Amino acid sequence: MIELVDIAGLREMISGLVLVADDETFDSVRQIHNGMIDRRPAVIIRCAGVADVVDGIRFAVSQNLEIAVRGGGHNVAGHAVCDGGLMLDMSLMKGIHVDPLARTVRVQPGVTWGEFNRETLLHGLATTGGAVSSTGVAGLTLGGGFGYLMGKHGFTIDNLIAAELVTATGEVVQASETENGELFWGLRGGGGNFGVATSLKFQLHRLDGDVQGGLIAHSFDQASDVLKFYRAQTQAQPDELSMVASLTHTPDGSGTPLIAMLACHSGSQTDAKQSIGQIKAFGEPVLDQLGPINYGRLNTMLDKGFPKGALNYWKSCFVADLTDEVVDILKRRFLGSPSAMSKLIVERFHGAATRYEADATAFPHRQSGYNILIIAQWMDGSKSDENVAWARDTYAALQPHMNTGVYANYMGDDETSSRVEQAFGGNYKRLQVLKRQYDPENRFHLNQNIPPA
Ligand SMILES: Cc1cc2nc3c(=O)[nH]c(=O)nc-3n(C[C@H](O)[C@H](O)[C@H](O)COP(=O)(O)OP(=O)(O)OC[C@H]3O[C@@H](n4cnc5c(N)ncnc54)[C@H](O)[C@@H]3O)c2cc1C
Repeated sequence: MIELVDIAGLREMISGLVLVADDETFDSVRQIHNGMIDRRPAVIIRCAGVADVVDGIRFAVSQNLEIAVRGGGHNVAGHAVCDGGLMLDMSLMKGIHVDPLARTVRVQPGVTWGEFNRETLLHGLATTGGAVSSTGVAGLTLGGGFGYLMGKHGFTIDNLIAAELVTATGEVVQASETENGELFWGLRGGGGNFGVATSLKFQLHRLDGDVQGGLIAHSFDQASDVLKFYRAQTQAQPDELSMVASLTHTPDGSGTPLIAMLACHSGSQTDAKQSIGQIKAFGEPVLDQLGPINYGRLNTMLDKGFPKGALNYWKSCFVADLTDEVVDILKRRFLGSPSAMSKLIVERFHGAATRYEADATAFPHRQSGYNILIIAQWMDGSKSDENVAWARDTYAALQPHMNTGVYANYMGDDETSSRVEQAFGGNYKRLQVLKRQYDPENRFHLNQNIPPA
């Protein structure tokens, strides 16, 4: 444990809360979504405002402490918390200001997607965001941001119009197309490498009333046919339709495998009913919850499948096509999963998200195709080895079919530096130069790290 000086002085300075191991709430605050992560910072600052972030960073630098930044705490790699350093916990900073006329929203970095949608939907407005309501806006946005509206409105970063950042020297800087443009470019996919975001401003879009969407599931013996149907539908889908396929289990804990599809059509009701009607008409579903649904509610449908504290180990990859071979691998590997909580998820990129050049933002993966997310999730700590092995072996089985490249936000903490480099693709060297400008000592290295050039 690092010897800390002057915690009392820190407490006097900070408007929020300063926690050390003796404090009653220390253990609950250091706990993040992934139960595999059990780290004990020397000190936690629960920031109440930008000045707390500035003073927290200066304190950490003066004490030579590592800095971990926590938004929603969802990142499976667990970089939101560290051993022996400073955890800057942003989760109390919950301000949300919607400008309905300009159709924009400015949020503080502790806001989750459930809180975000709740406020923007009051005005019939929304933007691309995470599919689980407790995921943090900040971490998801800085890494890219996949969600149900991405075919129509692009990734979350494509809707980011400005950010405020505290740098490693404690300076507060603004970033947008017109101010510190290179930093703004880097923040759209470069993660937490450049500083701590204290405010994020987004473009919103009209989303009056319900969308058509929800979940439909078939028995697992139909998995091949359903995945091939999913492939055909997604290759011809309009921008307004997003579809995710999930090899999953019934939620009753019995371990019965299911093949499910999640859909969201945010276009006109006539078009939406027609698209969703085609999905409903396919085969003989065992569960059909597709229909009109509030967009905010759609973004909570998966919450129960991802309980806080469950043990998680993730791998992911991009594939250009969902070939018959890939379908067979997914089916076969899923049946060998040791946990009834694990899933294999297939997401499709298309439409607006793919109409950007690879260097338009720091997030480089703009080609249409599929992302496969291998989610090993379990509760019993004694079963960790077999669950981790299942995810790794599934990834290995997919290796001959995958493109280079990976989504930084889905990476665990055991990836090689060359895999991290692949997450940033052709933008890596430009990001290294930017890193040298804003964080030459690599103070912000608890992330998918870009070492300074
Ligand atoms: C159940 C679940 C569902 C998910 N669904 C989606 C989805 O639909 N779409 C998608 O794209 N991703 C999804 N993800 C992945 C998600 O994007 C990442 O886990 C993301 O990092 C979560 O952000 P967070 O703020 O919750 O996480 P945290 O763990 O708090 O933060 C992750 C990292 O982001 C950085 N960071 C966070 N806040 C700040 C800040 N204010 N300033 C600077 N850096 C910061 C830090 O490096 C931190 O380590 C999901 C993850 C989970 C566990």
